[in-house]
Amino acid sequence: MENKIKGIEEILLMGPGPSLTHPRVYSALSRPTLGHLDPYFIQIMDDIKAMLQKVFQTNNNLTIPMSGTGSAGMETVFVNLIEKGDPVLILVNGAFGKRMLDIAQRLGADADSMDFKWGTPVTTDEVEAQLMKKKYKIVAMVHAETSTGVCNPAEEVGKLVKEHGAFYILDTVTSLGGMEVAVDKWHVDAIYSGTQKCLSCPPGLSPVSFSDRAVDSIMNRKTKVPNWYLDVSMIANYWAGKKRAYHHTAPINMLYGLYEALAVVLEEGLENVYNRHQKMHEKLVDGLEELGIKMVVDKQFRLPMLNSIWIPEGVDDAEGRQALRYDHHIEIGGGLGDFAGKVWRIGLMGNTAREEHVDRLLKALAAITKK
Ligand SMILES: *Cc1c(COP(=O)(O)O)cnc(C)c1O
Repeated sequence: MENKIKGIEEILLMGPGPSLTHPRVYSALSRPTLGHLDPYFIQIMDDIKAMLQKVFQTNNNLTIPMSGTGSAGMETVFVNLIEKGDPVLILVNGAFGKRMLDIAQRLGADADSMDFKWGTPVTTDEVEAQLMKKKYKIVAMVHAETSTGVCNPAEEVGKLVKEHGAFYILDTVTSLGGMEVAVDKWHVDAIYSGTQKCLSCPPGLSPVSFSDRAVDSIMNRKTKVPNWYLDVSMIANYWAGKKRAYHHTAPINMLYGLYEALAVVLEEGLENVYNRHQKMHEKLVDGLEELGIKMVVDKQFRLPMLNSIWIPEGVDDAEGRQALRYDHHIEIGGGLGDFAGKVWRIGLMGNTAREEHVDRLLKALAAITKK
């Protein structure tokens, strides 16, 4: 019998995620499925935790992949740390900051948000002034805002949050594996990421890490974590307990994929990985400028792995992206929220961030803008 799934053509994924899956990851995904308490699988889990500590640059014990995509990681950090009525400050300059606010509100937090203009970063002076005004339990921010291509000052905000004694939540779904993320140095208390951006793995897992201080606070909650599936105090028994207790069946093959993906990143070396993303970004920007295409974000605030451009003049949003997809077999992203219909988003994430891919996209853009 033939496989039911066939004939899926390979598309060069240059949008905001998923990125191109690394060939080694594809092959890892197809290894034989083991039981979730199999001794060899438990060994893999231990290796995954150790590798995640390296990419997150942390000694945090509770550093594990959650089942689910990046948004499950977002939900995990909020649902475990927030109790009803807790004062929470969310710094918003794009769609993912807004999603954080939505989650905090659903949990009944006393949630304040500070809004910054889309396409510009969070500014520390304003954050500091707000922290002087009100005592917060938690401050949350997105490091790499995928909806705009802006890099927020994660280290500086971390310093401020620490001075004011709050817990610091950071979203690194897009940044992890593509630029520096340093959990311990930046005083981050709860962090999450995703597999399908710079880790070159399909979507399905969300690496998270909690500081010891955050874990203490979770263990001393007055009320139970209101979400059974994402309660890390229970999941920690399976991932790190002396007696590995069943919580939910781990997505075994996805974890093989993450295992291989982390090995690929660490073998290349974190510094080399960051430099490759930066170099490919610079090559792309040079090429775009030659085509007369303008970047949305000012140079000093740009992310290497997510490049927002103003839709080239005379090109229709949907038609242009369809031409890229059908004539050139390349996917890029459209604009979200405030940027819908105005902006295109070009991803250079993980295995996508390679010279030949940048060249291919630039050629295709030249063709559709008839330059
Ligand atoms: C992609 C992304 C998410 C959401 O991840 P999903 O895997 O789509 O659930 C959250 N935050 C940021 C910054 C992202 O780029």
